[in-house]
Formats: sequence, C-alpha cells, structure tokens
Amino acid sequence: MTSSTDQAPTLSLDVVIFGGGVAGLWLLSRLRREGYQAVLLEADKLGSGQTRYAQGIVHGGIKYALTGTLTPATRAVAAMPGRWRDCLCGTGEINLRQVRLLAEHQYLWSTSRLSSRMAGFFASKLMRSRTRTVGEADRPEVFHHPQFTGQVYRLDEPILDTATLVRTLAEPHRDAIWAIDWPEGVRCEAADPDQMAVIELSLGGQQLRLEAKRLVLAAGKGNAALLAALGRSAPPMQLRPLQMVMARGALPVLYAHCLGASANPRITITTHGDQNGQPVWYLGGQLAEEGVGRSAPGQIKVAQQELADLFPWLDFSDLQWATLAIDRAEARQPDGQRPESVFAAEDGGVITAWPTKLALSPLLSDEVMALLTQGAVDPSPVPVKLPHWPHPGYAPLPWQEEERWT
Ligand SMILES: Cc1cc2nc3c(=O)[nH]c(=O)nc-3n(C[C@H](O)[C@H](O)[C@H](O)COP(=O)(O)OP(=O)(O)OC[C@H]3O[C@@H](n4cnc5c(N)ncnc54)[C@H](O)[C@@H]3O)c2cc1C
Repeated sequence: MTSSTDQAPTLSLDVVIFGGGVAGLWLLSRLRREGYQAVLLEADKLGSGQTRYAQGIVHGGIKYALTGTLTPATRAVAAMPGRWRDCLCGTGEINLRQVRLLAEHQYLWSTSRLSSRMAGFFASKLMRSRTRTVGEADRPEVFHHPQFTGQVYRLDEPILDTATLVRTLAEPHRDAIWAIDWPEGVRCEAADPDQMAVIELSLGGQQLRLEAKRLVLAAGKGNAALLAALGRSAPPMQLRPLQMVMARGALPVLYAHCLGASANPRITITTHGDQNGQPVWYLGGQLAEEGVGRSAPGQIKVAQQELADLFPWLDFSDLQWATLAIDRAEARQPDGQRPESVFAAEDGGVITAWPTKLALSPLLSDEVMALLTQGAVDPSPVPVKLPHWPHPGYAPLPWQEEERWT
C-alpha cells in the first residue's frame, strides 16, 4: 500500500474476516447474530473461490463411508444435513429460506449387484437410518430402463444452488461486507492476541483504518498469501486439484454418486441450468480427481466414455462439453489426503480457517466461536457505526458463463 492512512478514520471492531466464500459468510452471520462487531473483506467477488464451483451437496458423510468403515470424518458430517435443513426452512441458526433447493436428496447407485461387504454396510444400523433402498418405481427417471441392473439408494443429503446460498448469506449483512484492493490497497499487522490487529485499507481514493481483536482468515486458497503478508508460514495449506467436466444439452435431471471400486465415487453427477435454463450435467468424483493431468479434450473423452459405459441407453452425441480446473484448499495433511474435518486454529490474534467442505461451514463457525470464547473475545457492548464502503458484488456460476462453452 503506497499512500499513508495516518489521517484515515479508524474503526474499532471485534473481528475482521478475510474471504467471502461460504465459510466467511456463514461465520459473519453467526458473529453478527451473537452481537460481535464484525466486517468481512473480499478481494474479488463473493463466492468467486471454490464456493461457486461446488456441486452444492450437503454431505451427510455417506460418500466418505464408502470404504465400509466409520471414520471421524463420517461422524463430523453426519449432523450437517439436519442442521442445514433447519436453516433452509427458516428455523435454524441462519435463515436460508431464500436458497434454491436443487434437490431434496442425493442418490447413490451401483452398476450391478453390490458386493456382500457393501450390501452388509448399507444394511447396517448406522446406514439404515441415513439411506433408503429405492424401489424401481421411485428411482430417478434415468434408471427406469430395462438395461439398468444395479441398485439405487437415496441419501439424506440436499443439494443447493450455491449462487442463491451466497446471496442469501450475504444480503442481510451488505453493510458489513466490503471490497478490498488486494494486495496493493491492504496492509495488515497482527502480532499479539492481547493487542488489536491493524488493517489499513485504501480503495478508489477512500481510506480506512480498522482495529480488530481477532482476524479470521477464511480466504480459501488466499489464506497462504494472507499469512505471508502477516509474516507467517503456518498453518500450512495443501491444494488438491480437480478437473471437473460440464456437459450441456437434453439431459435428464440427476443428482447421484456412482459407486466405484475405490472409496471415492466413480463419478458424481449434479444437474444445473445454464443462463438460458438448458440442463448442464456437472461431473466430479474420481473422474475429476484422476483427470488432473489430462488435456481438456482428453478429459472430455474419458467423461464421454464413462457416461456411455454407465448409461448405454442414453444418447450423448449432441452435447456441448467443457472442463473446469479448480483447486481445493485445505489444511495440510501429512499424507496429502482430504482432512477428516474442518480446520481452525488461532495464533497471535489470527484465526486461520478452512471448512474442507461447503457442508461443514456450520461446524467451522462453531470452532471459530469456541476459539473466540477461549481467547476471552466477547462481543463489544456498543454497536459500531459502519461507514459506507463499496460492496464486492456476486460471482456468476461457471456453467452460466457462456464463454466457457466455446
Ligand atoms: C469442484 C468442487 C466441488 C465441490 N463440491 C462440494 C460439494 O458438493 N459439497 C461440499 O460440501 N463441498 C464441496 N466442495 C468444497 C467446497 O467448495 C469448499 O470447501 C468451500 O467452498 C470452501 O469455502 P471457503 O469459503 O473456505 O473458500 P472459497 O470458496 O475458496 O472462498 C474464499 C474467498 O476468499 C476470497 N479471497 C482470497 N484471497 C483473499 C484476500 N487476500 N482477501 C480477501 N478475500 C480473499 C476469494 O476471492 C473467495 O471469495 C467442492 C469443491 C470443489 C473445488
């Protein structure tokens, strides 16, 4: 930052959050509801990180339990669908009634009879409460075909439209969500939990100095640069890349994982609409993980072969195809694998946070609230009058950006 902010107005806050993805926005809502004086700073558009690339599945842990064993990750996410459903019907901790629900349930299908180990797993007491075997008549339409010989399970996992999720979380707090000119227009300093962190902002000729009891870094991949700007190298981050595939055309509506040979679904399909409402299949799972080293045409070819293999009765010849390369940003794990749950840790007045999954944002906000309580950071009794500051706006969904299809 070049210009001095000595003369800039100073605002004293409890918490300043960096990052307007689902994690930062959820936390801002929680903090403000509990009386904290908090603002959120966004370097780009709201939702522009991983959030808009998410398939929108509110996982309940079943995808993670596909190995047939119950892991800590399975337990951590088990409560999430219920907690989100309360919010979606307006009775939860945040009112998400304006969020568009794409589907009430996610499905899981196998291409042929399940192995006895997997069949036993689905019949177990734990899984019986969270999955339902679906009879032929109740299956998604795409499986109403004589060539389909597998089994279909219904999972208690709603699927959300992430654009309306971001907007619904952000709109009630517009006054406290500010655009920043990162890195040129931002200088931050935090060294000691007993002293206020300082952030100097400069944007379009306006200047502002913020003091905060805690900084929360919820900037996804951007956390690494924020930590570096604060002179830190920990906690370390890992990036796990994906190459997702999009197919557009006359496609049936489907939200489902296909069981594969590994612990990860062979493919995960969600259905969205392009800007003209045309159906788009968004394809993830093992296909996206294994597709990272492939060229875009190579990845599309593999996706076409997978779909032809899984749905030999459907015609995919008239579709338009595109790929999306995107990194997942998480707390670094010794084995480089997906973290078991959320990550939040405090050091010298700075809380670094990664939700690991969109679905775990409520759990992440619990952890951050607990860190504030542990640090005796209580809500300031006197409300702060927030100045007018530019709002960052909303990122479009990738499949609605026409240029990606050409
Ligand atoms: C392809 C894909 C599919 C997924 N599908 C699912 C799913 O179906 N269900 C699920 O639960 N999870 C899913 N996930 C995971 C989920 O998307 C992420 O866990 C979640 O969106 C992370 O949210 P976040 O707010 O931490 O980070 P992000 O969404 O990455 O947001 C970070 C924000 O910080 C901003 N930022 C960056 N640097 C700075 C800075 N210096 N200052 C201020 N702001 C900054 C960015 O612009 C961005 O807006 C998926 C992820 C991917 C990649």
